[in-house]
Amino acid sequence: MSQQDISIEFFPPKTPEGVEKLRITRAQLAELHPKYFSVTFGAGGSTQKGTLDTVLEIRREGHEAAPHLSCLGSSRDSLRAILAEYKAHGIKRLVALRGDLPSGYGAVDFSSGEFRYANELIEFIRAETGDWFHIEAAAYPETHPQAKSPQDDLQNFARKVRAGANAAITQYFYNADAYFRFVEEARKIDVAVPIVAGIMPITNYSQLMRFSDMCGAEIPRWIRLKLAAFGDDTESIRAFGLDVVTQLCERLLAGGAPGLHFYTLNHAAATAAICRRLNLAG
Ligand code: FAD
Repeated sequence: MSQQDISIEFFPPKTPEGVEKLRITRAQLAELHPKYFSVTFGAGGSTQKGTLDTVLEIRREGHEAAPHLSCLGSSRDSLRAILAEYKAHGIKRLVALRGDLPSGYGAVDFSSGEFRYANELIEFIRAETGDWFHIEAAAYPETHPQAKSPQDDLQNFARKVRAGANAAITQYFYNADAYFRFVEEARKIDVAVPIVAGIMPITNYSQLMRFSDMCGAEIPRWIRLKLAAFGDDTESIRAFGLDVVTQLCERLLAGGAPGLHFYTLNHAAATAAICRRLNLAG
């Protein structure tokens, strides 16, 4: 695998300290020579400025950067304006998502609003900007938590590709078989785009459990029990997490995954350690 096949995700920091800390994180991770850095986008455009500022700073440092763009809670006009701004800055790559409303919004009616699903956003981006953007969509080897069924979710993934997504990044998972099966099933319904594996390094047990509950990623029982047994022993959690996630990445790459996308949560150490073990460090 070439080093070109790594991508690295950040969220836009909210404070000047966070901005400074991300600069340091980025400098460490730039040594891995990722293909691009991506920057998340909060529901309804809540991080719009932070996302753009972070993307522009990354580009000024000489790296490729892809803003995420989510559509739930956003209007056509506001998304049109964002796309025009990205285009004016020469940004050529986007990660296009439906998004999630933050907790506290109560029950969400997904049938109202200008956009309901990511395939509608991708269609809109193509209608507005033609082939200007390289578009990545999300994929769910373990099935999106709101999907009616795995088969339905796979068909909905195919809709995003038919709408114009060039490639996909998966939700994170710790079960390589789920990924391989998902890719195989996508190929059977003629979805030919690269499906990059999303990787969440393991560094913190309670945070991982919280995220995984929300996004529907399964933590296998043996991993969960081991992590729980380490209690507050963060050294052991990190060492175990490094072994488990490195082995997962090795299996994915050996099995043909076209790339790895790291969810860093703005921390460098775990991602850098995994890539060093995989001999991907520059
Ligand atoms: P969709 O593809 O729209 O799918 C959502 C659900 O609706 C699924 O259950 C699907 O089966 C179903 N569905 C899809 N299309 C249809 C249709 N046409 N008819 C009926 N049902 C349909 N969230 C953010 O807010 N900001 C981010 O920056 C962000 N970055 C992410 C990056 C990656 C790589 C990933 C994997 C996720 C990211 N998320 C982000 C989270 C994402 O927004 C959530 O997982 C969200 O719940 C679904 O987004 P989606 O684009 O996959 O939605």
